[in-house]
Amino acid sequence: MRLPTLTVLCCCAAPLAAQTQTYPSNFTPGLARVPAVRDALARVDAGFDAQVAEWIRITEIAAPSRDEARRAAYVRAQLEALGLAAEVDSIGNVSARIAGSGGGPTVVFAAHLDTVHPIETDVTVVRRDDGTLHAPGVFDNSASVANLLAAARALKASGLRTRGDVILLFTTQEELGFKGMAYWLDHHPRTADLLVGLDGGLGPVNYGALGIYWSRMIFTGAGAHTLNSRGKPHPARAAARCILDVYTVPLPPPDAEVPAIYNVGLLRGGSVVNAIPQEVSFTVDLRTIDPVLLERLDSAIVGKCGAAAAAESVAFRREWIQRSAAGGTPAQLAPRRAHPIVQTAIDVLRYVGWDFGRGPEAVATGSTDANVGVVRGIPSVAVGRAQGGDQHTLSEWADIATARASTKQIILLAAALAGTR
Ligand SMILES: [Zn+2]
Repeated sequence: MRLPTLTVLCCCAAPLAAQTQTYPSNFTPGLARVPAVRDALARVDAGFDAQVAEWIRITEIAAPSRDEARRAAYVRAQLEALGLAAEVDSIGNVSARIAGSGGGPTVVFAAHLDTVHPIETDVTVVRRDDGTLHAPGVFDNSASVANLLAAARALKASGLRTRGDVILLFTTQEELGFKGMAYWLDHHPRTADLLVGLDGGLGPVNYGALGIYWSRMIFTGAGAHTLNSRGKPHPARAAARCILDVYTVPLPPPDAEVPAIYNVGLLRGGSVVNAIPQEVSFTVDLRTIDPVLLERLDSAIVGKCGAAAAAESVAFRREWIQRSAAGGTPAQLAPRRAHPIVQTAIDVLRYVGWDFGRGPEAVATGSTDANVGVVRGIPSVAVGRAQGGDQHTLSEWADIATARASTKQIILLAAALAGTR
């Protein structure tokens, strides 16, 4: 695991009496009083109405996964208008670098461009009097795209010179298993010293990676007309048997330190009423943060399918839909939690006004572009974009005011992590 040296400016006191462990942080409130940082934060306030207007504009540029080019073109034009050299790679990611003065870590801020909503979805934004925006994709993740653009403008206009470079990365296909992020890291090896994913609701800082395996279990046979079907191999019977058997694979209890879960989602098969289907399939969505448990459960599930297929004399194969590695057990997560990126993000969030209340400050069950950094050993966190809800549904909404704190969070994280003089 690569841990770049960061200047440890303070060791923040534990905020809760019950918390005994303290962690290093790169943030102090004094950082927000550095003139250029203060200027950048003030620019977020001054430009917030325009930011919200742009947020609406971005949301209304449809960007289903693999079809993000229109939204990417908009983002690229905005970066170029800032005088930045924007790159678009062959998977559609847009990136630009704000050069530092040298001697600090390169910090990548990543906001995904894509949404889960198909191209025909009405993405018209409705703004309500209660200070909320409503539209598919307005929360996940148009808010982060708008926040990162606004933060980039404020950073550029303030003249803030960080030591390390700040890379603005707008990724594609996040919703398909972080494909754009993985592609970018593959093609920019040893570039990101630190990675900040901008995704999720405001709340705990995410520093782990939820492992996610999506499989399609496929059962095939010769098929037969109903009249000739007696006793013949039957893919539907195998799939039905297998689904029931899959649910006998034991899971840790829900309150276990390392929980796990699986679900059979899509079922498909057959083409006519009057024949044994030649192919029947179902999907399994399996998740846990423990890489060993993930493999063990996956093997058990695949084993059940193989046995069911054999019992019904049909063929079986598994196709991968998505395969995202798990971020580790609590023991493996301990060094990640101790890296200053996590406590810095917590301290910044608190500084911009987030009240952690009684909830956790940091969790390790992330499912964002930051996962790709985590499993590659790059110190990575994901931080929220606003408050909101109903993501991935047509009734998705976001709270406007909270995007302001999220945007300031990006500026403070850039200053704290990339370093100022
Ligand atoms: Zn997202």
